[in-house]
Parts: sequence; C-alpha cells; structure tokens
Amino acid sequence: MDTKNKGFNTKLIHAGAFEDEFGSATVPIYQTSTFKFKNAQDGADCFAGKSKGYIYTRIGNPTIRAFEQNIAQLENGFDGIATSSGMGAVSTVYMALLAAGSHIISSDAVYGPARGVLEQDFSRFNVEASFVNTSNTDNIIKAIKPNTKVLYIETPANPTMEITDIAACAAIAKKHGLILVVDNTFCSPYLQKPLDLGADVVLHSITKFINGHADIVGGVIVAKDEKLYKQIRHSMVYMGCNMDPTQAFMVLRGVKTLAIRIERAQENAMKVAEFLATHPKIAWIKYPGLPSHPQYELAKKQMSGFGSMMSFGLKGGFAAGEKLMNNVHLALLAVSLGGVETLIQHPASMTHAAVSKENKLAAGITDELVRFSVGIEDVEDIIADLKNGLDKI
Ligand SMILES: *Cc1c(COP(=O)(O)O)cnc(C)c1O
Repeated sequence: MDTKNKGFNTKLIHAGAFEDEFGSATVPIYQTSTFKFKNAQDGADCFAGKSKGYIYTRIGNPTIRAFEQNIAQLENGFDGIATSSGMGAVSTVYMALLAAGSHIISSDAVYGPARGVLEQDFSRFNVEASFVNTSNTDNIIKAIKPNTKVLYIETPANPTMEITDIAACAAIAKKHGLILVVDNTFCSPYLQKPLDLGADVVLHSITKFINGHADIVGGVIVAKDEKLYKQIRHSMVYMGCNMDPTQAFMVLRGVKTLAIRIERAQENAMKVAEFLATHPKIAWIKYPGLPSHPQYELAKKQMSGFGSMMSFGLKGGFAAGEKLMNNVHLALLAVSLGGVETLIQHPASMTHAAVSKENKLAAGITDELVRFSVGIEDVEDIIADLKNGLDKI
C-alpha cells in the first residue's frame, strides 16, 4: 500500500510493508545471509546498481528494508539506514560525516558513549570535538571553527532533560555550512520531527521508544536527501554494523504501537511529575511538561507532547537517591528507557560513568540526579511505588 499521503498512525502499521506471494499479513523474517542471482548478468547488474535485487544481508535484506522504509516515512526523510545498535547509528554518522582535521560541536549532555567515542576514539584520528550547552544557541555560534563540519544535538538531552531549539540550530547550520544531526531517541517521530524543522540527519536508538518492549537493541538513521543517505549507507555497509533480520522483524512489530504507547506513557508521566513536584523530599524535578522546566515554551513549540522521561534530585543528594533506588519494586532499577515498563537509574554512576567527573558536572549530570522512564503500567501503582520508596528515606 502506498502510505506516503496517509496519516502517522496508518504509516506506523503499514509503511514499508510489501506483498509477498503468500499474502503474508506481516513482513516475514528473511533469515538468510545471501541471495541467489538469476544468472551471471543479474549478479553483475545487482552489484552495478542497475537491478534492485538483494545481494548480501549486510548490504540489504527485505525485512530490514521494510523497517528502514517505515521509519523514513515516519520521519519524513529520504530513506533509512538500520544499524545493529543506537551506538552503531551514532558511530556510522560520525564515520560518514567527519574526517581527519574536522571538528564537531555536540551537546554537552549527550548520551555518554556518543561523547566517549569522540573523546577516546575519533580523537585518535585527529577529529576534534567541542561539547557545549546547546540549549543556549549562542554557545554553538561561539564554538564554530573554520573546520567545523557537524552540529550534533540531542533533545531533550540525556539525562538533564535540557531542550535545544532544532529550528534555530538548523538556521545556524545552514548559515555556516554545517550538517545538523539530531538524536531523536527521547521523543521518537511521534513527538518530534527534526527533519521537518530543518535538520539534515536524524538518528535513534530503537532499543528505546521505537521498539518499546525492552527485548532488542538496535539503531536507525534517516537522511533528508539522497546524497547524505548514500554517504551514510556506504559507511554502515563498509563498517559492518547492519541490523539483523530478526531485530528488524521485532522492531516492525514494536513500532506499530508507538503512538498508543507514548500517549499512555506521557499521560502517566504528567501525573508522576506532578506528584514528585510537590513531594517534600524532592529538591528539584525536570520534566518538559511542567511550567517549571526552563524550556517549557520551547518544548510546547517543537514537541507535540512532553514524553515520558524525567530527571529529579532528592533532598539528601545521592545517598537519598540510592535509598530510593533500593526501595522501589515496580520500577526496575535498570538503564535504557522508553519501554512499556517503568525504569529508574542513576546516570552519574551508570549511563554516564565513562564521562569524567568534571565534564559531568559541567553538563549538569550531578551526583543526585535520578532518571525516571515512565511506563504504561497503572499510574496509581507507579506513584504508590515511588511514594513507598520516598517514605523509606
Ligand atoms: C540508548 C541511547 C543511545 C545508544 O543506543 P544503543 O541502542 O544502546 O546502542 C543513543 N542515544 C540515546 C539518546 C540513547 O538513549
């Protein structure tokens, strides 16, 4: 079915799906490493790009293509490139868009390894990186150098929930000839469409909201045009961080319920945030849906909903946070986010452990910060669990 002009929910269910000879209702798992050519000429045509036939699963596979085309339509992009993990997507984008001697500007509160791989690995290839608080776009302008090639933002940022103005970044990128990359993991295309706001490339850890069931790891990149798409796909294929057909099948199943999962999770999150905001043991809370969030107005402008991620600090600092984490029972003490189950974690000692103490503090990742990913359980149960944990402090 051609879903190009259909609504978002219809695309979730049908975009990228294709008909096979059996009339399968879902896209099957094409669990094969390689594909037979019809004859020698067909093989040569496939490699020359004259025929659209499949060659080898690292290069392309029907189950994976169905997911890539699904997400490309959800993000309103040219085409998608699925990867083995979210970090596979991040590293592929760096590999494709940076070279020795080039410079990248990134949000200082990005996902820990997205910063770590620049500082510890790409630096060995003479790639320079600056990390600034991109929620104030003046910081970006000040960091631009003659060799800056990429502006990389994550919004809302992980785990500080700082929000960066995507349209303003797109204007800066355009003026200075930079490629704007947005990590849209915290929102998913249901809440935020970076390409529509002027970004060039959008990427996701599909491990989180897009798959949504905490049962696979994966990533995806969507490019706005053919040139960027080809450049990035080349890097993915040559670096070899392709998605696997079974992963693609799982995420095609998970993505169908993205909208209803997010609707329920963000409805729950608003109630949880309101509960925490007035609790005497809470020192501060950052949730984009509360007017106390410093970029509440921007969140309303560029996101169509506030999502289900929040961070908060307890009076009593990390010791109090540790007590809470050890005394919740419904919320799983686990990293990751965006699944149907509620998760709680401590970024300073867990997801952002690889970032130096000094850089963590500069990015607002303080020792008392607790990250909370609200699931779709009954909200009364989530709140009762938190209340019980807070009472133990
Ligand atoms: C989890 C995450 C990643 C990395 O994804 P993996 O699937 O774990 O490799 C990148 N960016 C953000 C914002 C994330 O939350």
